[in-house]
Amino acid sequence: MQPKDLINRLECLGAVEPKVFCYLENENGNDYEKDLCRDCAKKMMKDTDFLGYTLESDSPKFCDECGELLAVELTLSGVEDGLEHYERNFPQNNDIERRHLVNMLEAITPEDDCYDQVVDIVEKYLLKIEGAD
Ligand SMILES: [Zn+2]
Repeated sequence: MQPKDLINRLECLGAVEPKVFCYLENENGNDYEKDLCRDCAKKMMKDTDFLGYTLESDSPKFCDECGELLAVELTLSGVEDGLEHYERNFPQNNDIERRHLVNMLEAITPEDDCYDQVVDIVEKYLLKIEGAD
């Protein structure tokens, strides 16, 4: 089974569409130490601020203002943390967990040590969720 098929199956079950990740920076390069979606970042923006985008993260991120899931590219260590978490707590049947699984699949290649483990947990998850219908 190729990850692309697994991603399609996860998205067919419903996976939250994440919002673009932003942070605010002023001319001194200080950010506001908040993770924001673009909508909330624009609301908080002053004249001198500009929006920055970060794509990489070690964990799922949520907007500090509205709580919506943000689009991130998981790092490999983020994928490993996710695996460790899911070994203890099997992923739940909801849109946010499915997006996190998609993010994990998108972050790995067959050369990565954790590749088989990620594919394995997603296959078990799909069997359980699709079987429950
Ligand atoms: Zn927001």
